[in-house]
Amino acid sequence: AQVGVAIVGAGPAGLVLGNLLLDRGVDCVVLERRERAAVVGRARAGFLAPGAVETLTRNGLGDGLLERGRTHRTCRFRGEHGEFTLDYSRAGRREAHTVYPQQDLVRDLLSAFVERGGDIRFAAPVREVTRGTVRLHDGGEVRARYVAGCDGHRGVTRAALTARGTRTARWDHGVTWLAVLAAAGPSMPAVGYALHERGFAGHMARTDTVTRYYLQVPRGTDPADWSDDRIWTELATRMRTAEHGPLRTGAVLERAAVDLRCDVLERPGADRLWLAGDAAGLISPSAAKGANLAVVQAATLAPALAAALAHGDSKGLDRYADDCLPRVWRAHEFSHWMSGLLHGPVGHTPEARYGRALQYARLESLRTSRAHQDHFAESYTGI
Ligand code: FAD
Repeated sequence: AQVGVAIVGAGPAGLVLGNLLLDRGVDCVVLERRERAAVVGRARAGFLAPGAVETLTRNGLGDGLLERGRTHRTCRFRGEHGEFTLDYSRAGRREAHTVYPQQDLVRDLLSAFVERGGDIRFAAPVREVTRGTVRLHDGGEVRARYVAGCDGHRGVTRAALTARGTRTARWDHGVTWLAVLAAAGPSMPAVGYALHERGFAGHMARTDTVTRYYLQVPRGTDPADWSDDRIWTELATRMRTAEHGPLRTGAVLERAAVDLRCDVLERPGADRLWLAGDAAGLISPSAAKGANLAVVQAATLAPALAAALAHGDSKGLDRYADDCLPRVWRAHEFSHWMSGLLHGPVGHTPEARYGRALQYARLESLRTSRAHQDHFAESYTGI
């Protein structure tokens, strides 16, 4: 038997797509390489932009985030000249973020998919995708009229597309973050960005009991070299707690090294294979855009696939790249700018001093210029 759409990957992209296809009467199957517990337990993103929230709620997928998500309106910048708080909900389009852990969103999307009668297979790693045939590692096979690649940036579907000649634009910021998840309540009302000559440190409130922190570390850092004590000491130094008050500490639940790399596929699909989310392009986490782009792209792809299946109308698929890429590039441009703001050169050479002075000039412009704040706010919450 042949299904309408075989979706590879049960992250935000795959599960939004699955739900929206079921709503349109398209039969689909989601193939996920991990066990269910691993999928709903994986902490990553947390910041949802208004455009993603609107997409989810409009499609009946936003009950959990509306109920339990938190509204964040401010971010705080710290550096050698003190700190300031930017209320971005009073600038630009006057929008705020909803903070809702990605694993909670994935759990909600999964429940909605199952409630809608969706077919999902866990522990079903896909080995290869060719012209509507998805081959699993266990020898099984699924035939589909379309395959949706939602398997992240190291997935097999991207490899299948690039093997056909789809080109990639790529950038490496040369920066690595130690991403820490701590069993500690937030130490600031929302997001904190700390600029320091030892490197960037970030604070992202998640829930009352869990906070995400980031520390800029050298490329190739082994997270195991960072004990809980070392992490809290370094965070205290870079977040200048002597000046601004202590951090609420707790056990480190997770530590992982994340290289700040980006890429964008020139065309996120062709013929019978279409990609969404990180599979179609990876964005560095410096502006918290990845999960948002995944949600919005999946919501763009769903009606295009449904129209192609229902009446052979391929206009939506033909337009998919043009519908997605301007938004994707705008997010990359802002993410790139954020990366430049947050990561000054480390060290004491004249070049490092020069680079850090530019960093502070940017920050000062953001602190004092209403026009700059409007632009920042629009880009920060936009998608
Ligand atoms: P994924 O979430 O990666 O899902 C892909 C799925 O495919 C996975 O479940 C995987 O197991 C499965 N899969 C892979 N290969 C196969 C295979 N061969 N067969 C079957 N299944 C397969 N974004 C934001 O918007 N806001 C943030 O605050 C934010 N913070 C982040 C913090 C960190 C530390 C990191 C690492 C990322 C962050 N992001 C953030 C980015 C965000 O998490 C990703 O962009 C998002 O998860 C992309 O969703 P996706 O569905 O495309 O891919």
